Amino acid sequence: MSGTVVILGGGIAGLTAALHLHAGGHTVTVIEQAANIGGRLCHAPPPILLEAHTATWSLLHSLGKEAITRRLRHTPLEFLQSTGARIQFLHLPLPSPLNTLLGTTVFQGLSMRDRWHLLSFLERTWEQDPPLPNDLDLRVADEWLASIGQSESARRGVWNCLARLLLGAALPQVSAGLFMRTLRRCFLTGARATKLIVPSLGIDSFLLAPLKAQLDTAGVTFKLNTTATQLHFDRDRVVGVELADRTRLIADWYIAALPRRQVTPLLPERVVTHYAYFQQLSRLSESPLVIVRLHLDHPAEQTQLVLLERRTFHWMIRHPDRELHEQASVVWAIAVEAPDLLAQTNEAIVRLTLDDMSAAFPTASTPRLITADVIRQPQACLTPKPGTQQCRPLPISPFLNFFVAGDWTDTGWPANLESAILSGQRCAEAIPA
Ligand SMILES: Cc1cc2nc3c(=O)[nH]c(=O)nc-3n(C[C@H](O)[C@H](O)[C@H](O)COP(=O)(O)OP(=O)(O)OC[C@H]3O[C@@H](n4cnc5c(N)ncnc54)[C@H](O)[C@@H]3O)c2cc1C
Repeated sequence: MSGTVVILGGGIAGLTAALHLHAGGHTVTVIEQAANIGGRLCHAPPPILLEAHTATWSLLHSLGKEAITRRLRHTPLEFLQSTGARIQFLHLPLPSPLNTLLGTTVFQGLSMRDRWHLLSFLERTWEQDPPLPNDLDLRVADEWLASIGQSESARRGVWNCLARLLLGAALPQVSAGLFMRTLRRCFLTGARATKLIVPSLGIDSFLLAPLKAQLDTAGVTFKLNTTATQLHFDRDRVVGVELADRTRLIADWYIAALPRRQVTPLLPERVVTHYAYFQQLSRLSESPLVIVRLHLDHPAEQTQLVLLERRTFHWMIRHPDRELHEQASVVWAIAVEAPDLLAQTNEAIVRLTLDDMSAAFPTASTPRLITADVIRQPQACLTPKPGTQQCRPLPISPFLNFFVAGDWTDTGWPANLESAILSGQRCAEAIPA
């Protein structure tokens, strides 16, 4: 039953689908509008890898990069609160969920009262008494955490920081259901300890380059600098994809592994208006991100991750520079949903970054700045607001040979690396080998 597959989009979702489909015996062509593969990952800071990211680990395993990534040291999760207090969430080398439960018991970022409320909630949830409310996907995480006894200072100083890191939006914007499921998956499930790894190797070296090499060896065809402009349909199937140069590609199966906003412009209007599957995409939206990458003439011994309360940036990562020389380091500063920051000049943004950096990583002498890059993404990632979950599409569309992938589709995860990889894998599984 193997056949030809055209994948639109050479981001990590499209590449993962290509890898699996090739293994299933299909002939695969990837259409990518940019000059390189990798999509949004090319501008992203090092991702945060947890044990629960099983699709990511399985992809790294198939590329022969799992062992080298797992050997990296655990990165402590540190909170810098607005009072100036620095608090670490202790990583206890115990199986989940024991490590999280004991870590919570001794975590100084929450008051005794907040910890007691949290642990008693976890205990009740465990015993399903009462069951979790079934409207959680329509409720706001901030309001729901208040309803289980979390104080305002706990929500601001801890839960808001975690919501931004894990879901890319602030607590008052986030769906309680997605927040709860993400926390449970990341910190309360899995047989192994919840080790947190922030790979400082460079996404290209441990993921994109080996993946591209494997796909090249397998004979997957890449059409770079090539934009898909229109999908053609007959009654129940896609019958071709038109490219910007007016040529048409024909295949047995088609996968759109594109950002959400790029899917509907490829569809005829009658398809968008007739099918609820495509109509609901217009109810989703994306939030902005500002990322700054500083290259500093100052050594860093190990990778650090700091979540900041009430600063311009919401989390910062500092790691040794493995590519330049041992005396240098790289700092990433990430601000989510900060539209005012988007409008500022690069110089102003870098000044603000240096200010937050000196709070997050205090040093005896001021590090010398070698280079600074500012990345603005006005529509970076799916906003995980209440009601979003119901509008995220599954991979199988109403058309027999057309599938949809991408971090924003319904994978159960927030729109991140794990979600993108899982979506590519699921699309490939939906196509018969
Ligand atoms: C600044 C930033 C920081 C991030 N940080 C993190 C993080 O720390 N951890 C984490 O897990 N995730 C992070 N993410 C999210 C992560 O990068 C994405 O979830 C993931 O890369 C999405 O992959 P994708 O394949 O779904 O989409 P994309 O990477 O967007 O791939 C889609 C591809 O389609 C191509 N394309 C679009 N239109 C067309 C067309 N008409 N024809 C042909 N090709 C087309 C695009 O050029 C692109 O290459 C970040 C994202 C951004 C933007």
